[in-house]
Amino acid sequence: MSLPPRPVAFLDLKAQQARIAPALRSRLEAVLGHCQFVLGPEVAELEARLAAFCGAAHCVGLSSGTDALQIAMMAAGIGPGCAVFLPAFTYTATAEVPLVLGATPVFVDVDPRTFQIDPVHLQARIEAVRRENRLRPAAIVGVDLFGQPAPWPELRRIAGDAGLFLLDDCAQSFGGSLGGARLGREADATAISFFPSKPLGGYGDGGALLTDDADRARLYRSLRSHGEGETRYEVLRTGMNGRLDTLQAAVLLAKLDVFERELARREEIACAYDSGLAAAGADRLLLPQRVPGGGSAWAVYAVLLPGPDARDALQAALRASGVPTAIYYPRPLHLQPAYRPHHDGAPLPVSEALSGRILALPMHPELDAADVRHVVDSVLASL
Ligand SMILES: *Cc1c(COP(=O)(O)O)cnc(C)c1O
Repeated sequence: MSLPPRPVAFLDLKAQQARIAPALRSRLEAVLGHCQFVLGPEVAELEARLAAFCGAAHCVGLSSGTDALQIAMMAAGIGPGCAVFLPAFTYTATAEVPLVLGATPVFVDVDPRTFQIDPVHLQARIEAVRRENRLRPAAIVGVDLFGQPAPWPELRRIAGDAGLFLLDDCAQSFGGSLGGARLGREADATAISFFPSKPLGGYGDGGALLTDDADRARLYRSLRSHGEGETRYEVLRTGMNGRLDTLQAAVLLAKLDVFERELARREEIACAYDSGLAAAGADRLLLPQRVPGGGSAWAVYAVLLPGPDARDALQAALRASGVPTAIYYPRPLHLQPAYRPHHDGAPLPVSEALSGRILALPMHPELDAADVRHVVDSVLASL
């Protein structure tokens, strides 16, 4: 059974734009006035504000979250022969970057309820790679999935014991927290993304790296500008064109002014979903489990169904009620055609099962109380 339709937006960038229009326009006009489109003053201003937001010492604005991951790995010397440990249940970019650099991704399973990388399996995977002695364990990428923090204390202990570079793929989760501290200082470096659909999204591609290490930050600035040295035409190392555009920085400065309020609104919506959907019963619908001590940026509010048939049936019924949903991720990375040949065949049963059971409900700050009510009622009527 489905409720009479009421169209709900999965993401509503137009409504957000209307809310911040005056600030946005004056920011954009400032850039059109000075015409410093590459590394203009807005980039440095945004870097300072992002660093202050999470308490990191340095922030380097970059062309995308993917390029942020790549520059962090290039600076850490990741290349051929290196094993990079990362979760199988994440966005493709996490695994793509080590392969682009000639390194090998080693897929790790995730927790069945928080969807974050499983530290016990990670430890076993590192030991197996050591025993096999074909690849050199070099780095761990912890992904803060869906807005929540990865298990950072465990990841730091494992990386410290094994002497591995620890990178936080926080592309989805800037604004999330752990132990009351905003994400951005949990690892050696933290990569964030400003893809339009992320909690802090621009109007195009963009990203940044956060770090407390001044030498790393200097290297990131060099690598984003073709490996330049003290002067622009001194090339010290092989880099890339990986800078954040001034226009994107201007958009993000306007959005940063309302970001805290938007995060609070996302939390309110998540709480309303939690209390409304509890009536379904845990045998029919599992609600997102909060990471202990964590705060979520609620990039995604994902529920679990008992299996693929129930998931697909709910998705179809919700569509008929005007409620769009999405599946993150329909296939774990080790089963993707591009990555399968690089996978060592280790079983990753949790990641595989989640792909058949997970469903993301609309989650953005423009949802009003009636939208949330309609989503809840539609889910309860459809189960
Ligand atoms: C979005 C995303 C990226 C890539 O960010 P882009 O800015 O789109 O390049 C990397 N990792 C994760 C987990 C993401 O969700």
